[in-house]
Amino acid sequence: MLSLMDAEQLIKKLPKAEQHVHIVGSTRPETLLWLAEDSGLPKLFKTAKDARRFFKFRDFPHFIDVYCTVVDFVTKESQLERLTYELLESDARCNVKYVEASFSAPDHVLRGLDYGKMLDAVNRGISRARMGFGVECNIRVDLVRNYGPEKGMEVLDWIESKNDNVVSIDLGGSEERFPAKPYKQAYQRARKMGLHLVAHAGEAAGPESIWQAVNELGVERIGHGVAATDDPALLRHLKTKGIAIEACLTSNVKTRVVRTLKNHPIKTFYDSGLTVTVNTDDPSMFGTDMNKEYLQLHRQLDFSPSELFKLSLNALNSSFLPEESKSRMRKAFIKEYDRLLNKG
Ligand SMILES: [Zn+2]
Repeated sequence: MLSLMDAEQLIKKLPKAEQHVHIVGSTRPETLLWLAEDSGLPKLFKTAKDARRFFKFRDFPHFIDVYCTVVDFVTKESQLERLTYELLESDARCNVKYVEASFSAPDHVLRGLDYGKMLDAVNRGISRARMGFGVECNIRVDLVRNYGPEKGMEVLDWIESKNDNVVSIDLGGSEERFPAKPYKQAYQRARKMGLHLVAHAGEAAGPESIWQAVNELGVERIGHGVAATDDPALLRHLKTKGIAIEACLTSNVKTRVVRTLKNHPIKTFYDSGLTVTVNTDDPSMFGTDMNKEYLQLHRQLDFSPSELFKLSLNALNSSFLPEESKSRMRKAFIKEYDRLLNKG
């Protein structure tokens, strides 16, 4: 039996994979100050402490407001290199070996930035992080539901013209105001383009939103999925179809989607045999990282280290890596876990 301290040390060292993390949501408070200066914008904050205070949210709509302000700070394509690099640096510190980072390209294009140059910058960040920390990363491009399905089609045109490391599309934004159904054609087209399919659903809206993502968009994974807990038929359906849920615990507490971590349905999902994974969503804005996410599952929801390792393998198994890489990485994860256990 592991002591509490040994268990926590083990959890920090577990090899991990992250599926749901936004590039802009990984802007560190210090980096927000740099962005303002580099962009020549009037300073909203004097210190990183002020910037940290700015990342306190009343509710989900308030979070979206703050998030959009940070997007406004990004005025040059090249700035995305640093944001992506820092996202991966933080993940690597938590022994995350593989990441799927969400890139909300239309947010920036609407502010005058160039998609191709941005994708190059993101990929420079990925290459530097791979060289520096050995972490691998692919990209999921967010169509951003607020802009409507026509813009979604345009984003697919951009991806057709340039797709380095792009493995998937995503649908983020204001779920409560913009339903998924109108994106049916865009998702069909993306599938034909060989892209994987994921959408945020059941975070700010109810189970119906998840049904739409599943039935209309044909998603392979659901971002958040909290509302599935209110619908037993949906839980059964997700399990039968093998659709994974990307749980974002701290995010859901901070935006008041759930009242406390103890109210989070991740345990229900896990116990129902669903493929559920652990993710930070917007780590800097929510003051979290992958180790904190795993540790609180252990401390507050009684997940054992072996159950947490199962969650970690879930993230690898339901990732959008090619089967061969998945299998290679899975073997490496198991080997590393065994080595950690034997040490403990
Ligand atoms: Zn998200």
